[in-house]
Amino acid sequence: MTKRSLRDLPPQALDGKRALVRVDFNVPLKDGRVTDDTRLRASLPTITYLREKGARVVLLSHLGRPKGGPEPKYSLRQVVHDLERLLGAPLEFIADPESGVSTTRRLPRGGVALVENTRFWPGEEQNDAGLARTFAALGDLYVNDAFGSAHRAHASTEGVAHLVKPAVAGFLMERELQYLGELLDKPKRPFIAVLGGAKISGKIDVIRALLPKVDALLIGGAMACTFFGAMGLEVGNSLVEPDRFTLAQELLKTSGKKLILPRGAVIAPSLERAGEHRSVTADAIPKGWAVYDIDAATQHDFRARLLDAKTIFWNGPMGVFETPPFDAGTRAVAAALVEAGAKGAVTVVGGGDSVAAVAGMEDKLTHVSTGGGASLELLEGKTLPGVAALENA
Ligand code: ADP
Ligand code: MG
Repeated sequence: MTKRSLRDLPPQALDGKRALVRVDFNVPLKDGRVTDDTRLRASLPTITYLREKGARVVLLSHLGRPKGGPEPKYSLRQVVHDLERLLGAPLEFIADPESGVSTTRRLPRGGVALVENTRFWPGEEQNDAGLARTFAALGDLYVNDAFGSAHRAHASTEGVAHLVKPAVAGFLMERELQYLGELLDKPKRPFIAVLGGAKISGKIDVIRALLPKVDALLIGGAMACTFFGAMGLEVGNSLVEPDRFTLAQELLKTSGKKLILPRGAVIAPSLERAGEHRSVTADAIPKGWAVYDIDAATQHDFRARLLDAKTIFWNGPMGVFETPPFDAGTRAVAAALVEAGAKGAVTVVGGGDSVAAVAGMEDKLTHVSTGGGASLELLEGKTLPGVAALENA
């Protein structure tokens, strides 16, 4: 279902109106400062467009996981400085949405206000109708640009969308729905998915949903070890989920040639003893050692396959990429995506750690999803409450 976009609203729906925008400012912080402003920058197209059209912009976001009350370390005051720098404009801070209505009315055309962390009010995560009404009073129209929070039915993502009309998708949300939706609806073929990361358990629904749609599914990361274990191979001290062996066996049986496992691995006795790393084939992992990355042969194999693809979706690193040299496999897959993209393939990256792994390469990829959990749930075929609540186009 296509959702109505901010782009579809006529100028008179914006000029002088208070646009209540749910953004995703859930940024990493250290000592009260933003350490990565990607999410702030990602919201700029929507905010800038609204300001140019003469709207008064009121921003809503959560930050971190406060326990149902105000906690200074989760205050959105910490993003004010960086947001003002990016906007080149001053920001009004609304510490309490209840008493903030007058502030929103005083905003000049093109003015911007930021409301304190939505999760400081206990009703947010319960999707409380009263809190949704409080938020709704802050705007004359509602724009949801927080794709990363759309899989949660919260007062600021779902409840409020039913109370303010029009309720439309912002540009970031629109982009996410377009690119992730196209993967499911009409991918150019061959369509290859690369899945990695720590655990098969967290990704099983994605594997199940993608298998019938893809031409090949390349598996890396610790997830591959669970498949090795299920095949009866020695996995040493690798991160495996033995309670998923049956499931992995089932997948191997039903998906036949589509599931591509690593040929070999880079192993070490432990992460602390990374210096002793060496490469082995998948059937030669010794007891007492653990798999930390895909090996060079697998990198070449995966690269060759990816260069034939017309659509690629990637989620989850190929190894413990935080600890070199076990970042090599993840880097190789990232490079292969860029290479395939240069040949015309659509390349989409989703997930938390995978997105970190392609930092700085965003402009060489078709789409890097800002929503980890939300992008996976969308690919699993689930309805995202924050999306469903928006008007249909
Ligand atoms: P994403 O956030 O992109 O969805 P995950 O959270 O599923 O990815 O997995 C990321 C984590 O998986 C990383 O912290 C990485 O160190 C870990 N990982 C990848 N391969 C292995 C491995 N072979 N052994 C242990 N951990 C691994
Ligand atoms: Mg993760």
